[in-house]
Amino acid sequence: MMELAERDIQFLQGVGPQRASLLEKELNIRSFKDLLYYFPYKYVDRSRIYTIAEIDGNMPYIQLRGQVLSFETQGEGAKRRLVGHFSDGTGVIDLVWFQGLKFVANRYKAHEDYVVFGKPTVFGQRVTIVHPDIDRADESVSTSLGLRPYYSTTERMKRHVLTSNAIEKLMVNLFRTLQNETIEETLSPALVTAHHLMPLADALYAIHFPKNPELLRKAQYRLKFEELFYVQLNILRYTKERRLKYRGFVFNRIGEVFNTFYSQHLPFPLTGAQKRVIREMRSDLCSGRQMNRLLQGDVGSGKTLVALMTMLIALDNGFQACMMAPTEILATQHYETVRRFLEGMEVRVELLTGSIKGKRRETILRDLLTGDVHILIGTHAVIEDTVNFSALGLVVIDEQHRFGVAQRAKLWAKNACPPHVLVMTATPIPRTLAMTLYGDLDVSVIDELPPGRKPVKTVHQFDNRRPSLYAFLQAQIQEGRQVYIVYPLIQESEKMDIKNLEEGYQHICEAFPEYRISKVHGKMKPAEKEEEMQRFLRNETQIMVATTVIEVGVNVPNASVMVIENAERFGLSQLHQLRGRVGRGADQSYCVLVTGYKLTEDTRRRLEIMVQTNDGFEIAEADLKLRGPGDLEGTQQSGIAFDLKIADIARDGQLLQYVRGIAERLLDEDPNAERPENAVVWKHLQEMRKEQVNWSVIS
Ligand code: ADP
Ligand code: MG
Repeated sequence: MMELAERDIQFLQGVGPQRASLLEKELNIRSFKDLLYYFPYKYVDRSRIYTIAEIDGNMPYIQLRGQVLSFETQGEGAKRRLVGHFSDGTGVIDLVWFQGLKFVANRYKAHEDYVVFGKPTVFGQRVTIVHPDIDRADESVSTSLGLRPYYSTTERMKRHVLTSNAIEKLMVNLFRTLQNETIEETLSPALVTAHHLMPLADALYAIHFPKNPELLRKAQYRLKFEELFYVQLNILRYTKERRLKYRGFVFNRIGEVFNTFYSQHLPFPLTGAQKRVIREMRSDLCSGRQMNRLLQGDVGSGKTLVALMTMLIALDNGFQACMMAPTEILATQHYETVRRFLEGMEVRVELLTGSIKGKRRETILRDLLTGDVHILIGTHAVIEDTVNFSALGLVVIDEQHRFGVAQRAKLWAKNACPPHVLVMTATPIPRTLAMTLYGDLDVSVIDELPPGRKPVKTVHQFDNRRPSLYAFLQAQIQEGRQVYIVYPLIQESEKMDIKNLEEGYQHICEAFPEYRISKVHGKMKPAEKEEEMQRFLRNETQIMVATTVIEVGVNVPNASVMVIENAERFGLSQLHQLRGRVGRGADQSYCVLVTGYKLTEDTRRRLEIMVQTNDGFEIAEADLKLRGPGDLEGTQQSGIAFDLKIADIARDGQLLQYVRGIAERLLDEDPNAERPENAVVWKHLQEMRKEQVNWSVIS
């Protein structure tokens, strides 16, 4: 396919310089190959030509063949429209255009044969089709075909008449041009045969011009198979190569720091899952390979402690460790937690964030270089170029989904030999997604909460039940508990946000005059926010009214109720994160999802799932199914694998696992990529890597 990738789209019949530039700007199509791989987003059955006499009000789309008897312009100003009276001998209908009047009038002539396609609207006796697709009958590519492809186009393209229809015609030209050339197969004959796949050339034709739904399905399967197979093969091979290339520091000592902490400072016994995960990491750290591990665990499962103990192993082996969090508040909280855990030990921990400046910052940077600082905790500030370590051995990244791939890669540059990397996420990621997003990471899971935690009870309540809700909150506060009330963030309008929150706050103040109430939102200065949160933490305020700024990290064990207003406006994983703010102490906790009466089917499903389960993994799976991978947190920033052209991680999870197995076997059988029967595969993988520079930076 290299060859097709090098042929400039402007030289395809029907393109030319102007369209070429549009195609490039709007769709990133530069070559013949790009166009060939620009797949339709839907198909409409156009195998049949209807007659006007047959039309009734219930037809979604129809195709007619006939002539325009005459054109006329009707109306004035904004209502101006062009009407073509169209007949096929069985009746007359109106074709109507509100835009591009001049273009249509110049292009289409009365008394010539056209094939017309569109959605009919019936008013009494009159039938109209607004903005129909219309082709000269002798040029129409559709009549001989079963399903007609629809390509997405942009507004700008439409203004230049580069419509779906026009792309379809380009596609016809493309296939005509390629008629006498072979489109090279990208899978080995063995794979094609063993998995009953349609050959590539056939599949590419059928994906654009399917004769029937069965062939379309086969073509789609073949192309999805190929796409997912190469994504997996690429990740697996990349991982293997990296393992060979990067030796890791060997941390084979468990020494004084770790042991002192374990025997004298650990305030509670580790859970079984925490122990297992520490063992898993310890074996990575001794292996001589660089560790690259994803630690998944629900909110409250005790990841911080596991990270800390891993850092202590680094210290015991003469290295420094660094921990990175996405926000200042979270970094600060980690810093304080770690300081508290290590109190009385000879370990120097420092905090570095954007707001630590001047002399303090200089001192930290200097002592990092001499090795006097053992553990550095901070925000993005720790990956700035000015921050250098004497011997960085381990990096912990918390709440991974907020860090982009590029940022992770940057850590690499800090050492000649890369440090071990532990990535922690509290947003559980479905298996299929993890395979693609973090395919090169080993995964550890903390699937057990510390003992004594009671699962949070979740209920859904309509907002007209507020009096009984308030009575409940009152009772909880009287028992000494604290309450969160969260309002959604309206991204389009920060002003609205504050208004919403402000109104909510006023309302709560009136409803609970006897209690003190905190208010926190994203527009506050970090110091003010911090102060307000501290007040709540010290139980000086009983109710915390907030936007989602409290979503990540905050730990107030005495808070036992989470009320989420306008719960319909939150995604599942966000709801789950918010709920994770309660249930951190020994008392029974509650989460109340408040909504109005009018709910979409989707919202109803989301709320149901929340009420049914506390299991983050289950919720993540459901979220993936409901929303698709493009919307899941983390996927946008990941910058990989989500320019999938045809496969869909949410829907094709099974196929993904299946082809991963095939890719694994291939790598096992042919580890040095030298077997002739796999030559096609290795060659294609190489070409793919050349095209996707991105792949080389996944870390
Ligand atoms: P997360 O996994 O959400 O980051 P944290 O590390 O913040 O969870 O831990 C949540 C709380 O549980 C903290 O207060 C922590 O001290 C406590 N914790 C962690 N491990 C245990 C354990 N083995 N037994 C009891 N409490 C624990
Ligand atoms: Mg945490």
